[in-house]
Amino acid sequence: MTAHDRNFDGVERRGLMFVLSSPSGAGKTTLSRLLIERVKGLSLSVSATTRPMRPGEVDGRDYKFVDGATFATMVKHNDLLEWAVVFDNRYGTPRAPVEAALSSGRDVLFDIDWQGTQQLREKARADVVSVFILPPSAADLERRLHTRAQDADHVIRERMDRATHELSHWAEYDYIVINKNVDEAFSEVQSILKAERLKRERQTGLTAFVRELQRQLET
Ligand code: 5GP
Repeated sequence: MTAHDRNFDGVERRGLMFVLSSPSGAGKTTLSRLLIERVKGLSLSVSATTRPMRPGEVDGRDYKFVDGATFATMVKHNDLLEWAVVFDNRYGTPRAPVEAALSSGRDVLFDIDWQGTQQLREKARADVVSVFILPPSAADLERRLHTRAQDADHVIRERMDRATHELSHWAEYDYIVINKNVDEAFSEVQSILKAERLKRERQTGLTAFVRELQRQLET
């Protein structure tokens, strides 16, 4: 689960698994999209799901939409790094693309729930950086769920109920960002990623780099 990339100074470093979670409607999908568009060296993990496709979604871009039997086969063959049941549907992270991205030196972004985050943390604690996005208020969350209007009313109510449950997991995350304003929240999430990339233990090439600096200083 580790990978080696070079940062801007040419120092080799381990790839990291950057997880964003939140109750639906807290703006996590927008933040993920902005990160993928604007941050270099970051790939999105596209999950497999048994939930039906929503209008505007594209198979293979937003999710890999699969039937129950296909999902069960993926689980059986250990093709998923983690998986969970969310809103009566199954969601899981295909293992191969994550391993390919990490081993080619890219960081991977995950838009997954708390159950998936717990599983990733159990498997690769040192490589997981997790961020929980909070809405500024319940009213804001409800408004965003209605604005999205892709789900039936009873689904929206169900999601509000579930949000209360999801919120209870906030303290399991490394960082908390309150999404009052998307630009500010994006800048905060980007700063977290930047700082985490610079962690000493992730910069596996530092010993060699410093040794070379010392050699140059001595000559
Ligand atoms: P939605 O159906 O609104 O796209 O997603 C519902 C929830 O499932 C979100 O909280 C999302 O983060 C979560 N989710 C999406 N993909 C995965 C996955 O691969 N694994 C897990 N554990 N949760 C996921």
